[in-house]
Amino acid sequence: MLHQNKTLNIRFYGDLNDFLPITFRQRRFKVNFKGRETVKDFIQSLGVPHTEYDLILINGCRVLEDYVLQDGDDCSVFPHFVTLNNESENIKEPIFYCDVHLGKLARFLRMVGMHSEYSNNWNEREIIKKSKDENGLILTKNLNLLKRNDLEKAYFVRANLPENQLVEIITKFNLKNRIKEFSRCLICGNLLEEVGVEKVAEKIPPKVKDCFNEFFYCSVCDKIYWRGSHYLKMKALIKKVLKKV
Ligand SMILES: [Zn+2]
Repeated sequence: MLHQNKTLNIRFYGDLNDFLPITFRQRRFKVNFKGRETVKDFIQSLGVPHTEYDLILINGCRVLEDYVLQDGDDCSVFPHFVTLNNESENIKEPIFYCDVHLGKLARFLRMVGMHSEYSNNWNEREIIKKSKDENGLILTKNLNLLKRNDLEKAYFVRANLPENQLVEIITKFNLKNRIKEFSRCLICGNLLEEVGVEKVAEKIPPKVKDCFNEFFYCSVCDKIYWRGSHYLKMKALIKKVLKKV
């Protein structure tokens, strides 16, 4: 009797559908299960990571993740409704921890003034610990990372091209009004300070000194930025991105 087939009707909402096979998307579907199964394990077995959903309803009532499924249950699963941009609530600036596949996204986020952290040396355990210590949110393309139980806040990045990933993150987390172009060091993410030419004269080529009068300094990397050709390329990229968000 313990292993008799039981059925569950289930529907996923919003972008949770991205994790499902096409035939299961945007519709209620019937699945069989056997034995004792928690709703958390069951949802995970369908490929939807636990960090991606927020609310589970069984027969119209909210349940916790350890709810044990019953034969004939009707289940609805909803994503996080993320709003970081409610300035009236004075929400602190988000810190994004980019996984090993997202180095370019980390750089692009810094380019538009977001606080992003990245290292190509972090393993799964390290990035989880660091993000928890700083109350940050992990951005990842690693589905195995998303399945870990010690993970708290994370978002699966859908787009593949870094430029599109930046559009996706700005849109998903409502960051448009927080954009401060070129306010951070692209290498380490530290906030830059504007400095006068006299402070940097010895560290920049004479030609640069003659052509530019605004300089920005990262005290962590001891690096100086000015608005040269690289800046113009990035400026064009930001303009393109802003048209899409
Ligand atoms: Zn730096």
